[in-house]
Amino acid sequence: MPKPPPVEEVAPAPRPTKTVLSVRPSDETAPIPLQMAPRRRGKAPTHFADLTPEERAAAVTELGHKPFRAKQLATHYFAHYATDPAHWTDIPAAARQGLADALFPPLLHATRTLTADQGTTVKTLWRLHDNVRVESVLMRYPSRSTLCISSQAGCGMACPFCATGQLGLTRNLSAAEILEQVRLACASLATGEIPGGPTRLNNVVFMGMGEPMANYQVVMKVVRTLAAEVPQGFGLSARNITVSTVGLAPAMRKLATEGLPVTLALSLHAPDDDLRSELVPINTRFSVDEVLDAARAYFDASGRRVSIEYALIKDMNDHGWRADLLAKKLNARGRGWVHVNPIPLNPTPGSIWTASESHAEREFVARLRANGIATTVRDTRGSDIDGACGQLAAEGDLAPKEEDE
Ligand code: SF4
Repeated sequence: MPKPPPVEEVAPAPRPTKTVLSVRPSDETAPIPLQMAPRRRGKAPTHFADLTPEERAAAVTELGHKPFRAKQLATHYFAHYATDPAHWTDIPAAARQGLADALFPPLLHATRTLTADQGTTVKTLWRLHDNVRVESVLMRYPSRSTLCISSQAGCGMACPFCATGQLGLTRNLSAAEILEQVRLACASLATGEIPGGPTRLNNVVFMGMGEPMANYQVVMKVVRTLAAEVPQGFGLSARNITVSTVGLAPAMRKLATEGLPVTLALSLHAPDDDLRSELVPINTRFSVDEVLDAARAYFDASGRRVSIEYALIKDMNDHGWRADLLAKKLNARGRGWVHVNPIPLNPTPGSIWTASESHAEREFVARLRANGIATTVRDTRGSDIDGACGQLAAEGDLAPKEEDE
């Protein structure tokens, strides 16, 4: 009987294993150092909006006018958003230009404007007196309008996914440079420049360029002026002002003592120190637990629910176990004190910095909710005009250069 042909040995088929895809910031981006001190010390010229009501009265008196002129000027500025002396008709014509020259130096010049969402989202790149650039984004919704403002030129926090962070910190903005972003937005809403007819500004969020807590004193002055009643401020409700931070824990704790019930938004982006220290480098100084403790302390002091911002990045921080860990850490500090806002990252094609896939996003949100965490996926308005902070200014560069209007 002939022998059967030898049976070819076939390697057993590999057993399907469940691989968890994982990318790290360091896979693509070399870390850059944190920069706590600005490169430049130069200050913007002092402006009326930098001053307290008492200082405004003293300033007009020094210029040879009655103190009540300060209140008239404040009404023009905070109620009518008018810095053109031609509109100050209740002030003697001969006095107007001198007051304007001394107290209202032009601080912001629009160099570029981009619109999206049928003109209801407007992003403006501003050139400051020393040619550095910042930006603000105005978003009008059917029932409200929100302005996202910058508090620094550049940023020293070195987050690898952020264009601003790659440029480092040029300098802090003055209070008036920040308030001018607000006044100009109020003016464009009041005059009906934004489609939908004249309206008012309802919300201000410190989520543009910079880390607000790194320019703390100035940001506090701005918040107080935003919330002061018209005509000494813009009359916004402190509750409608959101101050964001990547987690400067000591400043967060200080904010809790200010008696200003603003909304605090903590950009967490990862619940574990291992990843967060790469993703948000300030985490090497203030750990996840430290910043969550500081966030909880803010809730205890203010009664204001803290927002946790979480940019969902494909295969980097969007794993189900991270949602569970985040929920665990939040629940360990009590219930009902926090709200999580996952934000789909603006996709950067061909890069590791890509928005999570929708099934991963759904799973992440479902796990948070299943653990009792209030969760709302945040609107990504303006993503088609580089709505992520810093991208527009990065194109224009923050370094001094010739005008490009
Ligand atoms: S994400 Fe915010 S804190 Fe981080 S580098 Fe950018 S502007 Fe700074």
